[in-house]
Amino acid sequence: MRTAPLAPTSPQPYVGRLAPSPTGLLHLGHARTFALAAARANAAGGKLLLRIDDLDRARCRPEFTAAALEDLAWLGLDWEKPVITQSERLPLYRNALARLHATGRIYPCYRSRRDLAEALSAPHETPGAAPAADDEPLYPAAWRPAADLALPALDATGRALNWRFRVPDEHELRFDDALLGTQTAVCGSDFGDFLVWRKDGLPSYQLACAVDDALLGVTEVVRGADLVRSTFRQLLLFEALGAPAPTYCHAPLLTDEHGVRLAKRHAALALATLRASGTTPEELGPRLAI
Ligand code: GLU
Repeated sequence: MRTAPLAPTSPQPYVGRLAPSPTGLLHLGHARTFALAAARANAAGGKLLLRIDDLDRARCRPEFTAAALEDLAWLGLDWEKPVITQSERLPLYRNALARLHATGRIYPCYRSRRDLAEALSAPHETPGAAPAADDEPLYPAAWRPAADLALPALDATGRALNWRFRVPDEHELRFDDALLGTQTAVCGSDFGDFLVWRKDGLPSYQLACAVDDALLGVTEVVRGADLVRSTFRQLLLFEALGAPAPTYCHAPLLTDEHGVRLAKRHAALALATLRASGTTPEELGPRLAI
């Protein structure tokens, strides 16, 4: 791993962002990534945006947004106002979906999660369809419709379907990460056709994130290393949407004393808990260094 060059070297004015999901309390791992994002924006004399990724209606709660804002301020971080809220930006995501639709980069997917789970547990029937290491299993290419199949219209009914992005099979993608060095992935084997839209009428994280990073003019994305594979998907979306991609800096994930990645269930390491127990941000300092 490289040591993080503190001052990023982009020719444009630096725009970074913090993008918490209000699905639980922020913990020490978030603090470390967000402190790095702030340090890089600061060193570049740039701006830092705050985006609330609140599209997951079932898991996001307003009290977690409020707690995140308090935690970030307590850490001494500062960001541009107003705060950007994904749930208020639906028309922008719909426009992006329409563009992907018009250029034939997506197709409707009628398979359920259960179909996918069953296919993946029967590897002999769909060779190579091993689950990817991250959130989204490899979608069997055999389930794709033909590329020239007419797509259903994107009216209200069309937006109540799942839509997948057709990845260019065997194409190798590459980016140079400020911390991790060169990263590569092969479309169709490291990850497959991924969801850009869900039948509940909302964009997937991949689409919403790429659209926002593009429209908000983000020049560098600093986030956790668990999202490296998502970065490849988002690079495909930038290209398909005709937007320049930002550069990336993925921070290593913090683990607990058993080597388990910190998650929102590690209540003892929640910033709100540390704060309530009288810990000061200065005392956290050494634990925030990367
Ligand atoms: N909201 C996402 C998360 O908390 C991060 C998104 C991003 O930085 O791209 O995992």
